[in-house]
Amino acid sequence: MSQALQLVYDIGESRYINLTDRCTLSCQFCPKFSQDSHQVHEYDLSLPVRPEVEEIKAQLGDPRDFANFKQFVFCGFGEPTLRLKPLLEIAHYIKDNGGQVRINTDGLGNKVNKRNILPDLGECVDALSISLNAQNESIYDQHCKPALKGSYAAVLEFIELAPQHIKDVTASAVDGLEGVDIVACEHIAKAKGVKFRRRVLDIVG
Ligand code: SF4
Repeated sequence: MSQALQLVYDIGESRYINLTDRCTLSCQFCPKFSQDSHQVHEYDLSLPVRPEVEEIKAQLGDPRDFANFKQFVFCGFGEPTLRLKPLLEIAHYIKDNGGQVRINTDGLGNKVNKRNILPDLGECVDALSISLNAQNESIYDQHCKPALKGSYAAVLEFIELAPQHIKDVTASAVDGLEGVDIVACEHIAKAKGVKFRRRVLDIVG
């Protein structure tokens, strides 16, 4: 049934993987909530069923071509670390065939999995983009509406631990949201030894 779903999509020189549409945040700026849309560029990333690993692998294409992509990015309208087992399996498959792997994450992977998943990610992930989103908990809660208490502290801890396991780590925040101090967010990222990226509203990825 999920054969026709958009499990893989290309943007620029990278190939993106749509592993899940679930997450524990309800970000006000997410098109999923602000526009009731699962659309990225021309792709509809709705996932009425949970895709199996083999279905995703089939859409990834010929593994002999993996090295030709800039990166394979786990992204979409959900949090990839909520499906840790398939995430690791697919990431290993890509790495084993010469591809580069990046995960765009909300930084709550340790909290939801109730353990430090970074050593596992370190074995098959080249880069992490972590949504910091705010310079303090109240602004974070205002914009991201986390379902789990202590989410902001968990994101900060994840950002701090990540460079011990993954070489290329970037924290990000969306510019233009009420109360979000981009400079302060950048300072937090730098203090934790990671890069910072200012994101533009309404652009997922
Ligand atoms: S922006 Fe990401 S983390 Fe936030 S609600 Fe959308 S998919 Fe979830």
